[in-house]
Amino acid sequence: MGDLSSVQKRIRDLAAEKDVIILAHNYQVPEIQDIADIVGDSLVLALKARNVTQSTILFCGVDFMAESAKALSPEKRVIHPVPDSQCPMAHMVDVEGLQSYREEHPGAPVVTYVNSTAEIKAHTDICCTSANAVKVVRSLKEDEIIFVPDSNLGAYVQSQVPGKKVHLWPGYCHVHNDITTDQILQAKKDHPDALVMVHPECRMDVIDLADKVASTEGMIRFSASSDGKEFIVGTEEGLVHRLEKEVPGKIFHRLETAVCPNMKKITLYDVLKALENMGPTVELDPEIIERNKAPLERMLAL
Ligand code: SF4
Repeated sequence: MGDLSSVQKRIRDLAAEKDVIILAHNYQVPEIQDIADIVGDSLVLALKARNVTQSTILFCGVDFMAESAKALSPEKRVIHPVPDSQCPMAHMVDVEGLQSYREEHPGAPVVTYVNSTAEIKAHTDICCTSANAVKVVRSLKEDEIIFVPDSNLGAYVQSQVPGKKVHLWPGYCHVHNDITTDQILQAKKDHPDALVMVHPECRMDVIDLADKVASTEGMIRFSASSDGKEFIVGTEEGLVHRLEKEVPGKIFHRLETAVCPNMKKITLYDVLKALENMGPTVELDPEIIERNKAPLERMLAL
């Protein structure tokens, strides 16, 4: 099929010819990040998805991200090159379970992390990302809230907003949940001058060891503006490619085990094939699209 650079060129040519914008998440493989029009976290990509001028969005990320792009731009064709690239955490909560959790906590609004299915978002009051979860919870007038599906992010929010009671749904991201304090302590020992950045999807004992808790975009801003020269990157290793490109002159240490197999299911060849076929496309029930809009737009308005 040709070497990487000729495939990349073919992809860029086809995208221009077919009026396609390519959005890629920070955890995608480097060769996909390099051909994307925008690389970012869920918040950046959601903001971009609602304002694209191209007629088609090709989304390199997991299923819920492509669904959110469709919900925010329903008139656009949204292509998800590998529908099987799914986030297990997003599937740890179902509508029935959420409804009975609501009944257990009457009056508590449901704050849903965007890492969730479109169906769950349709039963949500407001969405959040890891970049704005604390801000979203603070903005609510209620003293008790339900947070789904990530219990680690919810616990972090609780630590930052002690005046409210956050009821946690027992979901988690296996990639971040598997990062251990031993791993961080060993990395600190190996790189004693490095600052530790961790994602709030990590467990609280890991968060407690960090110099900075941040979303992936927050890690880029922090490492660029910090006086530190070396950083331990406590999130999925794909971010290191972007850090090395965008924050030159600094050193980044990845945690070798922090790899999301779901994000890595999409290859450059899948992107090429998807452009050639202009599919597979994301199809959502119009009612689900309608019911996703309000919680997503409420979040983006913040
Ligand atoms: S890194 Fe975690 S939250 Fe993100 S797609 Fe992979 S499993 Fe899901």
